[in-house]
Amino acid sequence: MPGEDLSDAVEATKVFNRKRIPTVFTRLGENITQMSEAEEVKCHYIDMLEKIRDEKIQTEVSLKLTQIGLDILFDKSLEFFNEIASAAKSCDNFVWIDMEGSTYTDVTIDFYRRAKMVNKNTGVCLQAYLSRTENDLKNLLDINPNIRLVKGAYSENAEIAFPDKRDVDRNYLKIAKMLLAQIKEHDITAVFGTHDLKLIEEIESLAAALNVSNDKLEFHMLYGIKPNEQLRLVNQGYKLKVLISYGKAWYPWYMRRLAEKPANVGFVLKNLIT
Ligand SMILES: Cc1cc2nc3c(=O)[nH]c(=O)nc-3n(C[C@H](O)[C@H](O)[C@H](O)COP(=O)(O)OP(=O)(O)OC[C@H]3O[C@@H](n4cnc5c(N)ncnc54)[C@H](O)[C@@H]3O)c2cc1C
Repeated sequence: MPGEDLSDAVEATKVFNRKRIPTVFTRLGENITQMSEAEEVKCHYIDMLEKIRDEKIQTEVSLKLTQIGLDILFDKSLEFFNEIASAAKSCDNFVWIDMEGSTYTDVTIDFYRRAKMVNKNTGVCLQAYLSRTENDLKNLLDINPNIRLVKGAYSENAEIAFPDKRDVDRNYLKIAKMLLAQIKEHDITAVFGTHDLKLIEEIESLAAALNVSNDKLEFHMLYGIKPNEQLRLVNQGYKLKVLISYGKAWYPWYMRRLAEKPANVGFVLKNLIT
């Protein structure tokens, strides 16, 4: 994270934009328990979109549905989301929906279906570690979905998620292939959210074999991870965006990042001691 405040994310974006790299902003927070908190989050995202427009920076936004009240009132959180997405539309911007743990998969997909009917400038994240995802994508195709494909960051049961990383990677590639075929035929955005260099190389080869031009292929990475690869992708003409998180509610997000890369735990401990 460049810092806890929106202004930190804005300043970091100016540096990225100078390198022809747009960003995606997400304000940390999830599973809020009061609709008043959800309303505050909604207002924050609308203010954020206006700031992005006024600062003339290249940035999209991404949010978690449980941050805008999904655990409390589905209809109200959908209303809040539609307000954010229509503010984004008037600022010529785009809103991504993060995918949370598997207890939210059905409801998030249902939510996205409804949101996409009202605002086309929206997309949803799907997770390759879930065995259901291939079907979820097939079922969504009738609405020309905009998809950000990731491996998945939550601790899931082996009955529903591939426990072996090789199977997750294989499934990622299989779904990536389906998405690449869609990019060619439909008006959709398909984004590959990964730092896995082998996977990226394989997606590049698949895209070339399918005659998908570099400028149609989009990758998203997290702030601070694989910066050299980020530059390489941009220099090769691919679209590349960097997801910047900010905010004070960083604890659950931070623990997921540590779990992904155990070496990070040692890095943090070393920095605490020195
Ligand atoms: C833009 C974006 C949006 C995301 N949105 C969601 C979402 O909505 N829902 C969800 O469940 N998950 C989300 N994720 C997280 C994702 O599911 C993975 O947990 C995460 O991206 C790590 O997987 P990987 O594809 O990079 O592959 P991995 O095989 O995990 O990592 C490949 C290599 O990348 C580097 N790397 C990966 N993670 C880290 C790290 N934390 N610190 C340092 N180096 C690292 C390492 O070198 C590692 O070997 C998102 C990820 C990105 C990039």
